[in-house]
Amino acid sequence: MFDASATMALRQLQSAQAKGQKSWDDAYRDKWKWDKVFRVSHSVDCYPGNCPYYAYVRDGKVSHEEVAGSFSAHAPNEPDRNPMGCQKGCSWSQMLHGKERVLHPLKRVGERGEGKWQRVSWDQALTDIADALLDAIQEAGPESIIHESTPAEGGTLAMWPTDRLLVSLLGGLHTDVNAVINDFQPGHYITWGKFNPVGSGGMFRTELQLIWHWNPVHTQIPSFHFTAENRYKGTDAITIAPDYSPSAIHADKYIPVRPGTDAALALAMCQVIIEEKLYNEGFVKDQTDLPLLVRTDTRRFLRASDMEEGGREDQFYFFDTKSGEIVEAPRGTLALGKVDPALEGTFETSLADGTFVEVMPVFEVLRRRLQDEYTPEKAHAICEVHPDATRMLARKAASKRTVIGMGMNLCKYYHGDLMQRSMLLLLALTANWGRAGSGIFSWSAGSFEGPGIFASKQRPGPEETARVLAENERIAELFKVEDPTTTEEIAAIESVCDIVRQGLGNYIAPAFFWYDHCGYRDNWNRREWGDPSMKRSFDEYMEEARGKGWWQGADRPGPEIPPRVLFEVGGNFLRRQRGGQNMLLKHLWPKLKMMVTVDWRMNTTGLYSDYVLPAAQHYEKITFGIPNPSTMQLTVSDEATPPAGESKSEWEIFRLLAKKIEERAQARGVVEYTDSAGRVRSLENLHYRMSLGIEDLNDLVSEWIDDTVAAGCLEEGTTLESIKKKGFAPFIKLGKSVLTLTQASDIKPGEPFVAMRYHVEDKQPYPTLTRRAQFYIDHDWFLEAGEELPVHKENPKMGGDYPFVLTSGHNRWSIHSMNMTNWVMLNTHRGHPFMLMNSEDARARSIENDEEVRLFNDMGEIFVPVKISPAVRPGQVIIYDGFEPYMFRTWKSPSDLAPGMVKWLHLAGGYGHFRYWPIQWQPVPIDRSIRVDVAKVDGARG
Ligand code: SF4
Repeated sequence: MFDASATMALRQLQSAQAKGQKSWDDAYRDKWKWDKVFRVSHSVDCYPGNCPYYAYVRDGKVSHEEVAGSFSAHAPNEPDRNPMGCQKGCSWSQMLHGKERVLHPLKRVGERGEGKWQRVSWDQALTDIADALLDAIQEAGPESIIHESTPAEGGTLAMWPTDRLLVSLLGGLHTDVNAVINDFQPGHYITWGKFNPVGSGGMFRTELQLIWHWNPVHTQIPSFHFTAENRYKGTDAITIAPDYSPSAIHADKYIPVRPGTDAALALAMCQVIIEEKLYNEGFVKDQTDLPLLVRTDTRRFLRASDMEEGGREDQFYFFDTKSGEIVEAPRGTLALGKVDPALEGTFETSLADGTFVEVMPVFEVLRRRLQDEYTPEKAHAICEVHPDATRMLARKAASKRTVIGMGMNLCKYYHGDLMQRSMLLLLALTANWGRAGSGIFSWSAGSFEGPGIFASKQRPGPEETARVLAENERIAELFKVEDPTTTEEIAAIESVCDIVRQGLGNYIAPAFFWYDHCGYRDNWNRREWGDPSMKRSFDEYMEEARGKGWWQGADRPGPEIPPRVLFEVGGNFLRRQRGGQNMLLKHLWPKLKMMVTVDWRMNTTGLYSDYVLPAAQHYEKITFGIPNPSTMQLTVSDEATPPAGESKSEWEIFRLLAKKIEERAQARGVVEYTDSAGRVRSLENLHYRMSLGIEDLNDLVSEWIDDTVAAGCLEEGTTLESIKKKGFAPFIKLGKSVLTLTQASDIKPGEPFVAMRYHVEDKQPYPTLTRRAQFYIDHDWFLEAGEELPVHKENPKMGGDYPFVLTSGHNRWSIHSMNMTNWVMLNTHRGHPFMLMNSEDARARSIENDEEVRLFNDMGEIFVPVKISPAVRPGQVIIYDGFEPYMFRTWKSPSDLAPGMVKWLHLAGGYGHFRYWPIQWQPVPIDRSIRVDVAKVDGARG
């Protein structure tokens, strides 16, 4: 029998002897020698990531890496966070010299996608691209330049220079990353006015962990040990999922649920909690809108505008049980003072016109709805969870510190917002946010204030930093003066919304771009693929939303400006976009005069680009892990080796491009132009305005760290050198960026970080219309949809009327698609894409294990080998995300079967917190529960 290890050992022995060494074990020892060691990490979207690593360098090359295991515990008496790492991180160095690596600027010479390339000089590449940018500006204006957002596959320092040049200075547009990757949680936003409070620091204090729309065994490899360790101290871990997921095996209980029916289950749990009076009355009364009064005639909140001439539209009311009167709900605080609002009952009040109406608290409306429609028995008919199991879950949640560890899966369902709103209702009734060990998981960024400060500076140095910090403070104060009930968080949100409205931000909600330019208008208007509860066509909703100016500033470039130049930097548009190549190559690509990919590897998008520019890999440039409140560290990834071949850091690439644009603009006599917001933009001194005279990436990063210290977020004395030495530096303050202020909490030394404390402990209002966690939405469209309260709705038949639902999730072997072709990873699974299918379903269709099948729907077909598994629910098929389309036989992947539907209701605006600001409220594309069929194909796999 073949024994690989014996053969390897023999080869090593022969090699050792050939080198005159004594034995193979000396050769083995020699293999692990190194010249230098560097602190590194992987600055990708493996959220929360930031694992500290060592990279060992020998003869100028990274020979291997090792987890550093150097983070301390979140808090005393908690298990520490180490070792922190994953199999992708442990084999990262293999990708520095992989076959997919791009080492020189490449210019397309054949047709797009034909695979014919010419190696050209940097000067030629930058000249051609600079001319294409100037052509686009002259022909159609700067908004014809699009920077497609990246989820940081190129590292955190990939995104910033691209935006600074293309968006901030030239006036191009940046597609919102949270729509592009769809990690936006609309249900959280509807409820809290923000999608991303992060509370995973308190994981070890959790008593009930609901693993619900989450698969941490794949997605949280460095921190999954907390789930296992919690169980030793009695924490219940319960997995709720359609399939017996890889995480279910590690849970105490597994609750199978029909795909997309989780709202029914959560609402039935709420029904039990209310019926059995297990809810936390204090939390419900001071944190939520459930005590606010609703008119039974109009189904709208009772407002001051109803009660008096000229009354406010955003003043709401309680019925005070102490005084027996209807009283104003305070807007500036959640504290109730002497008022005790009623939760149940019906009341009568007179209006400004002298008429009388009946009103009742939202809680009463909810209680009746749950009683009528969502008893555990009625929910059983929808979600197929036994009523006894529903009651067991409800009672546990009501009596324990509960976390719903929802990942980024739920937001990818058409009615994911309804499921999220139902789950948050469960947490609200049981007082399960704002204290350690409770809440949800989400993602956020922030605390590394330096890049944001630099963006506002006009010259380098600390004096200019002080000016920028003072100016930011002054702007925030203006909003507080305008409305004294405005908190710091609300002021920060108002100021970014203002920038968007004026068209000055250049971040766009890309759904409008897809609708106008990428062919999605036809898909979204197909009634048979859409939501049967829509009363009008998608076009009608779109027309109304735009006509009322709800999306002003965010719906650019608009149908009249054709996209001309598109940059993908460290991303993979043709893999990621729902609708994929079917939509983009057909509708968008013909409009583009220049498609540029900047990446360290050749991915599917690069294969269809006009230029591919080689970027330095993560160990070849200084960069950082994505700073976030889950780790509270600024983790460095140092330059362990110089960039391979002719590759350069993105800072270098875009700095040189700025220089070239300045040079070509002078030669062509283009000095300035006006963008659609009426702002005059100059091309003079472009390079200085890009760099403020800083050329070296290390100097730029040093300036950022100094500025972050000046903002108070890093300890005094922290420098780039001190971070390089230790590998990371702890954040001591969250900072002033809107993404950190929405955490609504402080960093407290020796305690886990817990979001939402300002609301729960200090009674600061939420940034919603009602200034409370809002479960009742009386926007006209929500009333039209019957979604004023969370309800269950069936998944639309997206893709056509076919018998299987295609679901997905993050894979185990790659961060997005970037590690998928790493040979080490390929050896840890079948080495090719596969689709999981239930054994009985496969048997009924005579499909064998590893047989390639045709998966199809109205959008098209793909070919994929099957992995048969009884863990998959009958009627469900699963293809985990991340396989490169070119790994499939016809280069078509699951994205090509998704019509990329968005939920029409998410176009709603003009209502309190329903307005766009970066990475928040906007329509996002759906890719879960796409309808498909499976058929055998003749012949073997190609
Ligand atoms: Fe950690 Fe992400 Fe690196 Fe894995 S890839 S070791 S999760 S930083």
